[in-house]
Amino acid sequence: MAGIYLHIPFCKQACHYCNFHFSTTRDQQGALIEALAKEIELQKDYLQRQPVHTIYFGGGTPSILPKASLDLLLQTIRQQTGYANEAEITLEANPDDITEENCQAWREAGINRLSIGVQSFIEDELRWMNRAHSAAQSLQGLQTASRFFSNISIDLIYGLPGQSHAQWQSNVEKAISLNIAHLSCYALTVEPKTALEKKIRTKQYSPVDPDKQSAQFLALMEWLEKAGYRHYEISNFAKPQMESRHNSAYWQGEHYVGIGPSAHSYNGISRQWNLSNNALYIRFIEKGQIPYEIEILTPAQICNEYIMTALRTDTGIELATLGKEQERIVRLAERYIQRGHLLSDEKRVWLTKEGKLLADGIAAALFIDN
Ligand code: SF4
Repeated sequence: MAGIYLHIPFCKQACHYCNFHFSTTRDQQGALIEALAKEIELQKDYLQRQPVHTIYFGGGTPSILPKASLDLLLQTIRQQTGYANEAEITLEANPDDITEENCQAWREAGINRLSIGVQSFIEDELRWMNRAHSAAQSLQGLQTASRFFSNISIDLIYGLPGQSHAQWQSNVEKAISLNIAHLSCYALTVEPKTALEKKIRTKQYSPVDPDKQSAQFLALMEWLEKAGYRHYEISNFAKPQMESRHNSAYWQGEHYVGIGPSAHSYNGISRQWNLSNNALYIRFIEKGQIPYEIEILTPAQICNEYIMTALRTDTGIELATLGKEQERIVRLAERYIQRGHLLSDEKRVWLTKEGKLLADGIAAALFIDN
């Protein structure tokens, strides 16, 4: 079982916190879509004929694409690698792009899941983040989308410097009241070279408060657990059977190919990533070359990646997967079990709620040396 990720590197405007690869200049959009279709052809053997069960249009803002572009890309995938009839096909959509006409077009193209960049239902917070949409557009967009799609995820961001506990609670309660099937909730992070980083450095914005973010995350887990969501990965919560199949496959170490500038691919042996420059990417692909860098993974790296990703999921680390490392991990985990950060049984090790606040550090402490 394998997945395909397509990176659509265009946005209407730049959100202050974002460090993804995108351009707000769209004059190369047509050429880039042609290049993506060509890259699908060039990469057709990467997955070695494993059946494709998930396709994910991410970005950037894939919802700005016309239907003809989605049709071209999905038809090319169908011809080159094929995909399962019941494949999960997700489109990341921003609220201001969700209209009846677009939903109809997305359905006709084959999209069956929307991941909507709501981020907040509070107007001031959206402006602070420089989002291109209003809170009213999010509500209207969700209402429209729910008439066409039953599988809807929204993103929410917490830990904004000025965000009160009550504001965060109202965002989460709004999502619960709208019966959203899946929520991805991220703590605001200040990435280098973003407008947010500059605004904090020049004291236009207050810095983020990690303690407040931790308190908001603990509260989030409690609210969503009560509302019947499964907390199946650190940042992801789903109603029963509504987990993202595409992202779950990443976390289970399944193989995927990434198409487009900055997209990553993984085949169990190596990781590779395309260069993050639209013009150069188009130029290389037009010559029949994929511009990528590659890292061949050592057995230790493969094991450490497994520890890192598995620990972030609610099923945790399956000890049997670790082979001869099992005993060592059980010994190292003991310290965290005593502190109340990990739980274990004879088959698995997984994080407690408090442990989830320290996931990356705990995973690093369990890593094996290269
Ligand atoms: S819409 Fe998404 S990809 Fe585009 S700038 Fe905002 S956060 Fe980044």
